[in-house]
Amino acid sequence: KKKIAIMTSGGDSPGMNGVVRACVRMALHMGCDAYCIYEGYEGLVQGGNLIRKMEWYDVRGWLSEGGTLIGTARCMAFYEREGRLKAAKNMILNGIDALIICGGDGSLTGADKFRAEWPSLLEELVANGTFTAQEVHPFSHLNIVGLVGSIDNDLSGTDATIGCYSALARICHAVDLIEATAYSHSRAFVVEVMGRHCGWLALMAGVATGADFIFIPEKPSEDNWREEMCSIVEHHRKIGKRKTIVIIAEGALDREGNKITPTMVKDLLADKDGLGLDTRITTLGHVQRGGTAVAYDRMLGTLQGVEAVKAVLEATPDTKTCVITINENKIMRKPLMEAVLDTKKVAKAIERQDFEEAMALRDTE
Ligand code: ADP
Repeated sequence: KKKIAIMTSGGDSPGMNGVVRACVRMALHMGCDAYCIYEGYEGLVQGGNLIRKMEWYDVRGWLSEGGTLIGTARCMAFYEREGRLKAAKNMILNGIDALIICGGDGSLTGADKFRAEWPSLLEELVANGTFTAQEVHPFSHLNIVGLVGSIDNDLSGTDATIGCYSALARICHAVDLIEATAYSHSRAFVVEVMGRHCGWLALMAGVATGADFIFIPEKPSEDNWREEMCSIVEHHRKIGKRKTIVIIAEGALDREGNKITPTMVKDLLADKDGLGLDTRITTLGHVQRGGTAVAYDRMLGTLQGVEAVKAVLEATPDTKTCVITINENKIMRKPLMEAVLDTKKVAKAIERQDFEEAMALRDTE
C-alpha cells in the first residue's frame, strides 16, 4: 500500500487546510495510506508523533478553518544535509516514499533539494548502519509534488497561489472599514499591506478599493513621486472626495531602490505647507493572513490537492518534480524548479533596480 504524506511549510495561508483535507481524502480514495507531517520540515526532521496517520474523519470540517491545523514552521535543520538525513530516516521508518508539500518558494526549493539528494541520503543511511540495503530498497525513488500556499501571489508560473484571494478580500474589507472613519473626519490613511517582494496584493487592493495612490516594488513611481501623489490627492480633494487612501506594499521602493515607508508618505500628506491632511497610518499585518479562506481558495486548494495526489502517484524516476499551478482557469503541472527560479529572477531584478525587467517577468507569469 502506497503511503503518501502531506505537509504545510513556510508562512501559513488561508486554504492550506483545504489542501490537507483534499490530499488526505484523495489519497484514501486512491487506496493509499495518508499521513500528515506536523510543523513543516521540523516534523520530518524530528519524526515521532509529528508524523501521524490520517483517516477520512480526521480532516472533517477543515475547509472552513483558517491557518494550517497541522502547523507550519521555519526549520533551520532542513537547510543542512544532516537535517535532511534525519528526515530521510523518518520517512523510511514510517514507510513513506511520496510527499506533498504546500508552501512558498523556500519550501519548494527545500523539497527539490531533498529529492535530488535522496539516493545519496539512502546510501549514507545504509553506510552508517541505520538500515540495510534491503530495507531501503523499496524507497529507491522519492516522489515529491509541490503546491503553492502563499498570500503574496509571488510564485511565477501560476495565476494564483492558495491564500492570495483570501488576503486580498481581507485587505478590501479592512479598507472599507477605514474608509468609513476616513470619510467622517475627512482624513487620509496610509495602509501598508503584505506581499514581500511582490506588489500583487497592493495593486489588486488598489484597484478593488479605488485607492488614490499605490506603491509597489516592481514599478516604483517616477523620481517625482512625491509631487505626483500630492497632485493626484489634491485633485481628488478638489472634486469633493472626503477620504484619501494610499496603499503601500511592504516591499515598496523608489527608483533608487530605497524603501518607501508609510511614515514618509504620511509626513508628505500631512505637511502643513502642502496638503495638510489629518493623516493616519494603518499597518494591516497578520489580519491579512488570519481567518477562513474565501471560496476561491477553498476551491483552488481542493482541486490542486486532488491533482497533487494524482501527480505523486503518476511520477516516475524520469519526471521532474512538479508544482501544481492554475493557468487560465485550468489546473496544471509544471516543473517545480523552473517556477522557483523564475520567481527568484523577479526578486533579483528588483534588487538590482532593473524594474523594466521585473515588470516584464511579472507580465509573462
Ligand atoms: P516559504 O516556503 O514561505 O518561502 P521559507 O523560505 O522560510 O518559507 O522556507 C520554509 C522552510 O523550507 C525553511 O524553514 C527551511 O526548512 C526550508 N527551506 C527553504 N529554503 C531551503 C533550501 N534552500 N534548502 C533546504 N531547505 C530549505
